[in-house]
Amino acid sequence: MEARAPELDARQEGSRARLQSLGTVLPDVAELQLLFARLNNEFFAGEIPAHRIAYNGRFGNLAGRITYKPPLIELSPKHFEGNVEALRETLLHEMIHAWLHARGENPGHFGPFKRKMRELGLPSIYHDLPQAAHRRRPRR
Ligand SMILES: [Zn+2]
Repeated sequence: MEARAPELDARQEGSRARLQSLGTVLPDVAELQLLFARLNNEFFAGEIPAHRIAYNGRFGNLAGRITYKPPLIELSPKHFEGNVEALRETLLHEMIHAWLHARGENPGHFGPFKRKMRELGLPSIYHDLPQAAHRRRPRR
C-alpha cells in the first residue's frame, strides 16, 4: 500500500530526513506547530493563516480534520503511531483546504485541490492508511 511518488525533490527529502530523526515517537504539539509553519513556508508561500494544530484521540476512522472558525487542524494520533510520514501527508492535506479557503477559493476536493495535491506529490484524496477515510465535510 506504500505508493510513494518517486520524484521527491530535495526539499521533501530533507523534510523526510528530519521527520525520521524523530523516530516512531509522534511529534508533540509544539513540534506540530513548527511543522505547520515550515510546510506553510515551503509549499504555500506562507499564505496559510495561523492555525492551531492539535491531536484528537476521539476520532474513529477519521485521520484529520480542519475547522476554519476558529482555525484548527486536528490529527488522530492512533493513525500515525510509527508512521510520521503519514502524519505529514495528512497535515499537508488539511493545509491545502486551509490554503484554498484563505485564498477565497472553494476548499473542497475539486480541481484546484487536486492540482495542489499533485504539485506536493500527495498520492490521493483519501488517505492510504487502513481505515483512515477522510471525512468529506468538516462539520459534525
Ligand atoms: Zn480533505
